[in-house]
Amino acid sequence: MRVAVVGAGYVGLVTGTCLAESGNDVACVDKDDAKIEALQAGSIPIYEPGLEELVHRNAKEGRLRFSTDLAQAAGRAKVVFLAVGTPEGEDGDAELRHVLEAAEEIARSVKHYTVVATKSTVPVGTADRIQEIMERRAKAEVDVVSNPEFLKEGAALEDFQRPDRVVVGARTDRARRIMRELYAPFVRTERPILLMDPRSAEMVKYASNAMLATRISFMNDIAVLCERVGADAEHVRKGMGADTRIGYPFLFPGIGYGGSCFPKDVKALLATGRRHGIDLDLLRAVEKTNERQKRQLLVRAVKHFGALDGRTFGVWGLAFKPKTDDLREAPSLEVIEGLLGKGGRVQVYDPVAMERARRLLGERVTFAPGPYEAVEGADALFVVTEWSEFRTPDLERVKTLMRSPVVFDGRNVFDPAEMEELGFVHHAIGRAPPG
Ligand code: NAD
Repeated sequence: MRVAVVGAGYVGLVTGTCLAESGNDVACVDKDDAKIEALQAGSIPIYEPGLEELVHRNAKEGRLRFSTDLAQAAGRAKVVFLAVGTPEGEDGDAELRHVLEAAEEIARSVKHYTVVATKSTVPVGTADRIQEIMERRAKAEVDVVSNPEFLKEGAALEDFQRPDRVVVGARTDRARRIMRELYAPFVRTERPILLMDPRSAEMVKYASNAMLATRISFMNDIAVLCERVGADAEHVRKGMGADTRIGYPFLFPGIGYGGSCFPKDVKALLATGRRHGIDLDLLRAVEKTNERQKRQLLVRAVKHFGALDGRTFGVWGLAFKPKTDDLREAPSLEVIEGLLGKGGRVQVYDPVAMERARRLLGERVTFAPGPYEAVEGADALFVVTEWSEFRTPDLERVKTLMRSPVVFDGRNVFDPAEMEELGFVHHAIGRAPPG
């Protein structure tokens, strides 16, 4: 099938590549010339495990092309995916400028019956708005479908190729048939394609992300309480997760959720509620808890050291989570800005996000070549992203390199008893404070 994907970011590039891999003829389009030039030259602008190899193979075999010519790609395609960004806009609502701009251009370009499938996360009712644009402007028949994306950065290929479910919100049988055909290779092992109306499909995406954010904030509230009452949040997490009604995922206490999706999607859902006169109290609390949690380590550092000015801090991890280089809304940035704002010097290390961080932080921090260099002469180490290489470092060496052996462990990667034995002052989340 001929497919066009508009937006070659985390979602668009993965979608286009996986659809090419399953035999389709795919054009990935982006308005960012530099990104397209890089992709045409074989350079992948994001870090996503396994993606580079798959892009190269499909490009070499002629099934995957990159271009800035949306009109041409949309004119040839049977299905056009919209995978452009929907950042936070005014009032917290999703900014639809890119989606609507692209939709207008698609409408001007289609030459025959086309399915336009929205992968971008968009507020309920957006598919209907795009359908209106098509009806006003397109010279051929178009069915607009909501097809929200649930991939996780860091495991995006696996998630796309073996999804828990595919959600398709469509109003015609013709569009449903085409979407089923396109997804058939990925759902062969009884993975469901859930067919519904576009508004419900749009809501599934927001409700899912809001639920996951709620679990994180809930656990973070419990963790704060655990510290006060002398319970250990790690034992509590395991005890809770063993209940099959609850399960283990998204119950880790930490320094809050970040990334390109949860913060903005929670805000956008709150905005949808406000627009319809509904105050989503629970979700407001989820956000408030997250804001508090992102400041946790800084609050503790101030409590521990008093003034931070003139002190040196090592930071392990910049990406908002492991296995990605995405820094959007990363808790690391809050920690680093907080330390710098209080006069501290910061030495950072991340296995893959250093290049992006350099563009954001410039000369304000020192970029260390490795984790050990990041703790050299440091008064404390902040563990912000739970990359696996941070889980079992040579802690004796870390201790020797540091000026004082203090660790603020924002992801509970170290065992408190072991840290105490090694002579560290170890602050973790939801566990008894040291000393
Ligand atoms: P991104 O910022 O990585 O990529 C968006 C791309 O769209 C950019 O390269 C940009 O240049 C391009 N673009 C913008 N306007 C364009 C236009 N008019 N024509 C062509 N290209 C255009 O964003 P992303 O992380 O891939 O997210 C895309 C959407 O998918 C968002 O709505 C997001 O909420 C949703 N989503 C993201 C994830 C994720 O993990 N990143 C997961 C599920 C859903």
